[in-house]
Amino acid sequence: MATAILVLAEQLRGEIADITFEMLGAGRKLASASGVPLYAALLGSEAAPLAARLGLADKVFVADQPQLNLAPAHTIAVALKAILDQAQVGLVLIGGTNGSIGIGSFLSAKTGLPLVNFGRAAKLEAGAVVVTSQLFGGKILSDVKLADGRGIVSIYPGAFPVEAGKSEGTPSVEKVDVAIEAPKVSFKQYLEPEKGDVDITKQSVLVGVGRGMQTQDNVQLAEDLARILGGAVCASRPVIDQGWLPLSRQVGKSGMTVKPRVYLALGISGAPEHWEGMQNSQCIIAVNTDPKAPIFDGAHYGVVGDVLELLPILIDKVKARKG
Ligand SMILES: Cc1cc2nc3c(=O)[nH]c(=O)nc-3n(C[C@H](O)[C@H](O)[C@H](O)COP(=O)(O)OP(=O)(O)OC[C@H]3O[C@@H](n4cnc5c(N)ncnc54)[C@H](O)[C@@H]3O)c2cc1C
Repeated sequence: MATAILVLAEQLRGEIADITFEMLGAGRKLASASGVPLYAALLGSEAAPLAARLGLADKVFVADQPQLNLAPAHTIAVALKAILDQAQVGLVLIGGTNGSIGIGSFLSAKTGLPLVNFGRAAKLEAGAVVVTSQLFGGKILSDVKLADGRGIVSIYPGAFPVEAGKSEGTPSVEKVDVAIEAPKVSFKQYLEPEKGDVDITKQSVLVGVGRGMQTQDNVQLAEDLARILGGAVCASRPVIDQGWLPLSRQVGKSGMTVKPRVYLALGISGAPEHWEGMQNSQCIIAVNTDPKAPIFDGAHYGVVGDVLELLPILIDKVKARKG
């Protein structure tokens, strides 16, 4: 790989999103291993002050233009293409988030660079970049080789550590002025998501409950355990769909991606759509009556048993241990 790596910094209302730091950390590793610079692109008016937070990049390209605020994917791709032409970039990292998911396709069409979606690991191999792409909700992991290290990779949120992308360094800043046509699609309104009482993405202990809890009343047992463990309760989709817990507690493909130190999966089968949202937990402990439940394929520890029998015992034991 002989050309630079560019990370598209994702930010919203004055905050750099965690995915940006994930990509910077992963990009820095590749850049250092191949001896090329690491750049970041920061787009939108009033985004310029955020450049100081991207210290792991060697240089930040800033396009301080109001048309790039919450702009549609095509407009962002136009801006990125202009930066690519100017900066001799070979590899572009873009967040595989709701905000950025469509950008890579437009950029690929505009540049002819290959696009790999859902990247969750990347390494150098004899000048090539090999990206592990997670397909079908995690059922298939596919290694895709970008032969000369050139391409666009959308990075799966939660794939890389956030902290590895933070640095006190001071990147140089280069202002760019991008010619932007009036977009065919425009941003109308930002709808604030339902505010949850607890942010499950920030918890170090999560007690996840699934349909195996049987009734809404039984969820209280999980609440009790979470409280004495200093964590919070989250859930699989059927639990949310039945109204047992609010949407802000849903883990998975159509919910949150979580990475706690401990994830207890209680009466959760481990369907790919759920697994996708909690697979990067440091320690997964599953309780399920079915020894063949898929959750046991990935859990670090497993109990084959009835969660409703186990929970009261577990709560008593933890209470006793804590005195
Ligand atoms: C587009 C799409 C998006 C989706 N998004 C999500 C998502 O974001 N999050 C999500 O979770 N799902 C999502 N799903 C749904 C997903 O496919 C599964 O249906 C869901 O995860 C199953 O939830 P569950 O494990 O609680 O229920 P089930 O699959 O019904 O599993 C219940 C488990 O409990 C066990 N059990 C039963 N009784 C007990 C007991 N007493 N003690 C211990 N174990 C017991 C059973 O053996 C079983 O394994 C999505 C699906 C689609 C199609």
